[in-house]
Formats: sequence, C-alpha cells, structure tokens
Amino acid sequence: MDNCIFCKIIRHEIPSYCLYENDDVMAFLDVNPTSYGHCLVVCKKHYKNITECDKKTLDAMIEAVQAISKALLKTYACGLNVLSNINEVAGQSVMHAHIHLIPVNKDGNKANIQFNELKDVPLKEIYDNIIKNI
Ligand SMILES: [Zn+2]
Repeated sequence: MDNCIFCKIIRHEIPSYCLYENDDVMAFLDVNPTSYGHCLVVCKKHYKNITECDKKTLDAMIEAVQAISKALLKTYACGLNVLSNINEVAGQSVMHAHIHLIPVNKDGNKANIQFNELKDVPLKEIYDNIIKNI
C-alpha cells in the first residue's frame, strides 16, 4: 500500500530501529512507546489486521513474537503484554496487521492498558453468541 506507514518502513523509505527482519516479517521499536522496549512485529504483506493474514504470515509473525519476546525478557527482566488491536474502536491506529510487545515491570514500566472487570455477566449467552461463529 502506497500510503501505509508500515509498508513504507518495510520498504525502508522511513527509518526505524529494526530489531528483526526476514522474508515475511519485520520487528521495530514503536515510535510512540508505552514502555521502554515497546516494539511491533509487522507482516511484510499488507493485511488490515491479523484476522486477514494467511497461515504462513501468521506463523512467521508468531515466531518473531517469540524471538523478540525472549530478547525483551532478557533485556529488561520483565513481564510482557502481547497484543494486537483490531479495528479503530479497539485502538488500532495503523491499518496494517501488527502485534505489540510491551515490556512490563514493577518499576512502572508497563502498558497503558485498563482491564475493567464487568459484574453480573451472562456467560452462557455470551458463549452461545460466540460459539456459533467459530
Ligand atoms: Zn501496509
């Protein structure tokens, strides 16, 4: 995609702190990090999000996630949040499939993520709605 910022990074038209690259994927530091070491694993083919990726691409992304995760754990002696935002309502700002690796430690180096626990959730109804689409 001509105007996709991640495609431009992949083509090296925009510089990045590239940590990992092979034929299918690239990993680089997020320029708007939520913690030290926050990086992104992106596929080289332009897909809107991970639900659209082919199996080979997904496999390559997960292999890169594992490799970079090990490096981050070793570098920061931390925990990690691994996540992919899908669609704008979930926080996806670049419409090119990517996975965030966000180091978390007890010194406050953590993802800016809020998980609010819901009360009185109808689990059976939720289950029935989702399972019919799998
Ligand atoms: Zn792209």
